[in-house]
Amino acid sequence: MPHFDLVIVGTGSGNSILDPRFADWRTAIVEKGVFGGTCLNVGCIPTKMFVHTADVAATPSISSRLGVDEDLRGVRWADVRDRIFGRIDPIAAGGREYRIGHEDNANVTVYEGEGRFTGHKELRVSFGDGRAPETITADRFVLAAGGRPVIPDIPGLAETGYHTSDTIMRIDELPKRLIILGSGFIGAEFAHVFASFGVEVTVIARSGALLRSEDEDVSARFTELAMHRFDVRLHRKALRAQRSGTGIALEVEGPNGAETVEGDLLLVATGRAPNSDLLDVAATGVSTLDSGHVVVDDYQQTAVEGIYALGDISSPYELKHVANHEMRVVQHNLLNPGDRIKADHRFVPHAVFSAPQIASVGLTEREARARGISFVTSKQDYAGIAYGWAMEDTTGFAKLLADPATGQLLGAHIIGPQASTVIQPLIQAMSFGLDARSMARGQYWIHPAMPELIENALLGLDLD
Ligand SMILES: Cc1cc2nc3c(=O)[nH]c(=O)nc-3n(C[C@H](O)[C@H](O)[C@H](O)COP(=O)(O)OP(=O)(O)OC[C@H]3O[C@@H](n4cnc5c(N)ncnc54)[C@H](O)[C@@H]3O)c2cc1C
Repeated sequence: MPHFDLVIVGTGSGNSILDPRFADWRTAIVEKGVFGGTCLNVGCIPTKMFVHTADVAATPSISSRLGVDEDLRGVRWADVRDRIFGRIDPIAAGGREYRIGHEDNANVTVYEGEGRFTGHKELRVSFGDGRAPETITADRFVLAAGGRPVIPDIPGLAETGYHTSDTIMRIDELPKRLIILGSGFIGAEFAHVFASFGVEVTVIARSGALLRSEDEDVSARFTELAMHRFDVRLHRKALRAQRSGTGIALEVEGPNGAETVEGDLLLVATGRAPNSDLLDVAATGVSTLDSGHVVVDDYQQTAVEGIYALGDISSPYELKHVANHEMRVVQHNLLNPGDRIKADHRFVPHAVFSAPQIASVGLTEREARARGISFVTSKQDYAGIAYGWAMEDTTGFAKLLADPATGQLLGAHIIGPQASTVIQPLIQAMSFGLDARSMARGQYWIHPAMPELIENALLGLDLD
């Protein structure tokens, strides 16, 4: 039975652990899918390439109020898709070839199969090609096996056929009508992409708002804007799916009873689950939460000495920048067992690349209230700063929460143009403990640039 110093399961962020410092370690990488993981192949990167393309396609709908009349003559779906994956697929293939064939990786054995623990630090790898499974053992493991889309238990769904974020980006042709089941960030991003390409989009949400984990004001504004752009059905529960002609009929129950939503394709975007169950981490003594996330300590180590976990399999954030941060922590701790470092999850930001964009860090107002802490808020509209005014933006805003006594920022929530970029100085201020007053007045803010949104929001905080 081959024994290694280190086995890494999953080639998303896990693949970045091995560098020349591990050259004298006997290591193995186990990957059951495409090299590079979710972000590169079916997540952040392709979605944002589609979102950017959608932003370009959507300009005619906003340019006329600036006096520029544009027409969208067409979207060549196959060209859009093939440009995107024509750039991504070679990167994934290159990553695989590097690990398998390059002299830098002489100490790395790659197992292209599905790993499943069968005992303490014992992993069985099964191959899809009829080869007999192999069992490997190691002193240390890194669980970096990510997560997968959750498929709700809806009668008829499997027979009717559906897409997830794993498959929708590679479809043969654009549908005329797309039903999106789910109201989180994946649904919001794909709704923007497909609507910008001329598809009629219906969004089915269980609750009364889209993106409801965002700050209430942001979620409410996004929902209101989405209702102008998509057919949004709130408070709906999917009852059953069936084929209808060439399309799909989804029966849902809502405030007015049962209704049928018709579409040509159905995208299920109802959340993701960690892959800890398929990896059977319990067999090696690793514990999980009810959500399936692997339990780790501050050092990213699981309950079992020498078994670390990172990214979506253990992180409730399920974000690539978090997976990468945790990867660096695990890498350091493997190399320096006598001088380990802790992961920093104090201020984890995220963005939703829909239209408008959303970005957020820290506490929402709802969370601050629930914790019973003292806070003040400030809200600055894009329309009230020069660049937002020049853009004729009428719906975007930044909302800040701060401790009135110290001026320390507690949360920041932005909905509007370039939100994912505009928020960065606030993440920096929170991470380094810069108070709102010093931040607002201790530096120049380029005029008339978008970050004046932040300057004005900071100045609007009613601090003691
Ligand atoms: C549609 C979509 C859009 C997203 N957009 C963003 C974004 O804009 N910004 C952002 O920060 N995050 C985004 N994310 C989230 C981001 O992709 C993930 O947080 C990140 O990729 C997680 O990395 P990871 O290394 O933990 O897991 P993954 O990248 O998922 O890697 C896990 C790897 O493990 C392999 N594997 C799983 N089980 C086994 C097994 N038993 N044996 C062997 N191999 C196994 C898988 O095949 C996979 O390659 C998005 C996700 C999706 C789905």
